[in-house]
Amino acid sequence: MIIDVRKCLAQGKFNADVAFSYRPDEGLIDIPYVSFKEPIAVKGSYHILEDDSLEFEAEVTYTLQGLCSRCLRETEETVKTSLHVYFVTEDNEEDYLFRGGMADLSEAVNDAVLLSMPRSLLCRQGCEMIAYHS
Ligand SMILES: [Zn+2]
Repeated sequence: MIIDVRKCLAQGKFNADVAFSYRPDEGLIDIPYVSFKEPIAVKGSYHILEDDSLEFEAEVTYTLQGLCSRCLRETEETVKTSLHVYFVTEDNEEDYLFRGGMADLSEAVNDAVLLSMPRSLLCRQGCEMIAYHS
């Protein structure tokens, strides 16, 4: 979701709730045989601050589906994470930058997804490798 900050300022709309979902790039997932089951869901709000930067807070939910990294059974896992970021007009190497007066919230959500991504998908806690009996 892209917020047109200049338009918000012109309309005096400094606070808003946002809820959106989108199909993320599968490249965010680094686990073999795993993909996103459904679009990433984002629910939060943004505030435009006095210095025209934008504060964005949200809860992010996504579901991974695919094969258990240990036993290769079909499984899925829902991950919830949250983010709290700022979009600014000048690059400070810490916050997100506006592009042409626009804040691309999905950019921040993608990063939150990457940070929260499990390293493997397990069908249950402590799933073991397929046992080979000798
Ligand atoms: Zn398993």
